[in-house]
Amino acid sequence: MMRWVMAVVLALGCRALAASPCTIQTNWLCAGTPQATPCYVIDSGRTGPVVLVVGGMHGDEAGWAAAGQIAAWQVRRGKLVVLPQANRPGVFQHTRLQPAESNAALRDLNRNFPTKTNAAPRGALAAAIWAQTKAVKPDWLLDLHEGYPKLATRTNGVGSSLIVMTPMLTLPVVSNLLDAANTIVTNTAQRFRLLRQPIAGSLARAAGDRLGCHAVIAETSRDNPNISERTRQHRLIVHRLLRKLEMDANGPDVLTRRQPGVIRVALYDDSGGHTRVSVEDKLDRAGDLETHRVDGGMIERGVLEQFDVFFAPGGSGSGQARELGEKGREVVRKFVQGGGGYVGICAGAYLASRSTKRPYLGILNAGIADVDRGRDVVTVELTEAGRKLLGCTERELKINYHNGPVWGPGQKSAPACEVLGVFRTEVFPTNRTTRVTMSGTPALITGTYGQGRIICSSPHPESTAGLDAIFLHMVRWAAPK
Ligand SMILES: [Zn+2]
Repeated sequence: MMRWVMAVVLALGCRALAASPCTIQTNWLCAGTPQATPCYVIDSGRTGPVVLVVGGMHGDEAGWAAAGQIAAWQVRRGKLVVLPQANRPGVFQHTRLQPAESNAALRDLNRNFPTKTNAAPRGALAAAIWAQTKAVKPDWLLDLHEGYPKLATRTNGVGSSLIVMTPMLTLPVVSNLLDAANTIVTNTAQRFRLLRQPIAGSLARAAGDRLGCHAVIAETSRDNPNISERTRQHRLIVHRLLRKLEMDANGPDVLTRRQPGVIRVALYDDSGGHTRVSVEDKLDRAGDLETHRVDGGMIERGVLEQFDVFFAPGGSGSGQARELGEKGREVVRKFVQGGGGYVGICAGAYLASRSTKRPYLGILNAGIADVDRGRDVVTVELTEAGRKLLGCTERELKINYHNGPVWGPGQKSAPACEVLGVFRTEVFPTNRTTRVTMSGTPALITGTYGQGRIICSSPHPESTAGLDAIFLHMVRWAAPK
């Protein structure tokens, strides 16, 4: 909580009046039903515009992730209202439509809001969202979506666009939002463009037509594989609007705020390795873990300060090291040194290790004895320390293995790692003449670096059926106590 308050004070800097933190009110829409979803009213206590940000209208788009992060922001005047997971069952099941809606005509939530001819919203969820929208009287509505790119074969793709009410097309602030969206676009095919008139039945169109609200649908493009970058585009758009309205107090890289009993996990998500959505789901569903995707640039700018644990997934250890860059690698080292946890799996385990050949972090005191062994299901025998730490009674585990490190000794002068499990099988590269024996070498190890705890696995417990509990134990163990 302290850091949260301090962040606001810092963001306000030398502005004349010291603002007190906003009050945050949570309104549950459709409370007590399977569609129940929270709406946060972040109130500065000062007069000013009301901005409503909506995510998760379509559950298979990452707008909900950005909106959830924006819900951690503060404002210095007016109110920021955030409904991060409009179609919450869809967000949990990664479906565009409402999964439990029996009437097929009502499944697309963003077609159920009032139109010119029909004043009544359709279905209980749209009715609750519409009632909340009318109650907060937004001056601006930003509905965060993701679309497919406009291609020769898919000319109706709305990816990389801002869809605004027609009279808004000439507003200077709208071109400002477009600039914000394009700030981090490097692929010219993904440059944002303006489109007119949100579709009839959408919340944005209803709010524009019936409430006179400045309504925008912001569509990032799904052909960009970095979810962390897409959510950042959404944040940049919303943040630019808040700045233009003189409401911004923090952001755009504020992702979370501290909550008692919640471990905040930064998931590495960049071209060196994307955390899989299925792994993100496992962590999110644990209940005590909150995850956000971060890329190399965000790490360089200091987002790890908001987290307890850094998770480096499979992918390419060298790729991750390269994407982090020298500065980013130093930020991760400092994070762990200062007490942050590190969980590395496969590529993420390489990244933590020592290497004379590759620019790894060197925070785990283990060298790399061999690489690129191949792919198999391996047997790992747990040590007593391993069984205890991982909360596991079994002596042996079968774990998916995919080119993870074969570890060798670290530096004699540094504290030794603790071995939680050793390989009991060999995976042979067929094209090798010299063989390093894998059986008997560590498969799962822990170490410390400064104040921080590191736990690394060469094989993949996070993607092996039946090992979810072990994976969650790893993450919880790494968190600062
Ligand atoms: Zn959508």
